[in-house]
Amino acid sequence: MENENKNLMEKIISLSKRRGFIYQGSEVYGGLAGTWDYGPLGVALKNNIKNLWWKMFVDSREDMYGIDAAILMNSEVWKSSGHVDTFTDPLVECTKCKRRFREDQLKEKDVCDDCGGKTGEARQFNMMFATQIGAVEDSSATVYLRPETAQGMFVNFKNVVDSFHPKLPFGLAQIGKAFRNEITPRDFIFRVREFEQMEIEYFLKPADWEKYFEYFRGEMLQWMEIIGIDMNHVHELEVGDGDRAHYSARTVDFEFDFPFGRKELYGLAYRTDFDLKNHGLTYQDEDTNEKITPHVIEPSFGLDRTVLALMASAYTEDTNGEEVRPYLAFKPSVSPVICAVSPLLKNKPELREYAHIVYRMLKDEFGRVMWDDNGNIGKRYRRQDEIGTPWCIVVDFDTLTDDSVTIRDRDTGMQERIKKEDIVDYIKDKLN
Ligand code: ATP
Repeated sequence: MENENKNLMEKIISLSKRRGFIYQGSEVYGGLAGTWDYGPLGVALKNNIKNLWWKMFVDSREDMYGIDAAILMNSEVWKSSGHVDTFTDPLVECTKCKRRFREDQLKEKDVCDDCGGKTGEARQFNMMFATQIGAVEDSSATVYLRPETAQGMFVNFKNVVDSFHPKLPFGLAQIGKAFRNEITPRDFIFRVREFEQMEIEYFLKPADWEKYFEYFRGEMLQWMEIIGIDMNHVHELEVGDGDRAHYSARTVDFEFDFPFGRKELYGLAYRTDFDLKNHGLTYQDEDTNEKITPHVIEPSFGLDRTVLALMASAYTEDTNGEEVRPYLAFKPSVSPVICAVSPLLKNKPELREYAHIVYRMLKDEFGRVMWDDNGNIGKRYRRQDEIGTPWCIVVDFDTLTDDSVTIRDRDTGMQERIKKEDIVDYIKDKLN
């Protein structure tokens, strides 16, 4: 089993690079630990996830306000939020080989993962990246790259209330980059130093927190199911008293069985009034004039971990005789390419011309459509299967007389003949 999982991880990493999902960051200069670059297919997958998330948690709701705050924030924000003092991980160094590790991630307590030497005393290491702003280099010019998107929402709480006058409960939502100087980035895009989060801060009356905690727990599970994460590999974990982040009075982690083990995918936290209180922000009910500090439920989704969980959920191999066929069984709604269009033969202008009209029609409708005329049809199918394209459309000689095309299904390999004018509806039907 362990070998199988190691293999799966290697397959995902190699497919990602080969087919243009994810590349090592700064690769031509030997890379930069903890950074990855998304290629054309990776960015398409990420955008589909972000759009679905925004649709579910912002656009389709009446109580959610989207924002996009700056990554650089006044350092007072991070003092008030507690991050300057407490956003730390325990760092240990091997007394023999001097390599550094996060103490709670060592395979064996007090033993170096690399050389088996004894590790020294732990010290707290702050994970925020500091940089200097402006031309003067003194401590007053220190700013931090945000380690979570959450604070961007807390410090805009009053702005949104003043502009839109929402009634409690309501939420702010944001998708954006966050940065953490992880001691040991590892496991591909699972633990990185630059990543994206999709977060909600949901403001409510203190007495309502349990109700909405349960509500968002359900919403998060539903989200995972909608996008196609394998729910058999999702587990909820009630995070114990000593293990919660400094701001949380209750946390449930949603863990996923990644190929390298069961690890946190998402978190749901009850942040109480910790942040608003520390920023000195309150809310006045316009009807009763009552002034309160709302409490907060925070569903937090890591985007890169979503990508990895989706790839691990979707990766499938079936065998037809000797041959192994690997494919990514993405749902059409997240799939980077929704369909590929090919002329049966590459060198027949009349087929190419017709296929190009079909390609253009579908591209105008769906955007993420690929033209593929390399190699024989079998090879094209294999290539599209590997990147998770649900449908391949082929224009052949019959098309020229009956205006029908062949549409082939990725998962079953079944082929159907449909009229050109019905292709868009055929795909739309399956998208919903
Ligand atoms: P971990 O315990 O794995 O370090 P965390 O509990 O510190 O994670 P949170 O602070 O709850 O994570 O962050 C919210 C979400 O952001 C996580 O559930 C995860 O999806 C994502 N995330 C956090 N750190 C990273 C990272 N270094 N790389 C990629 N995603 C991350």
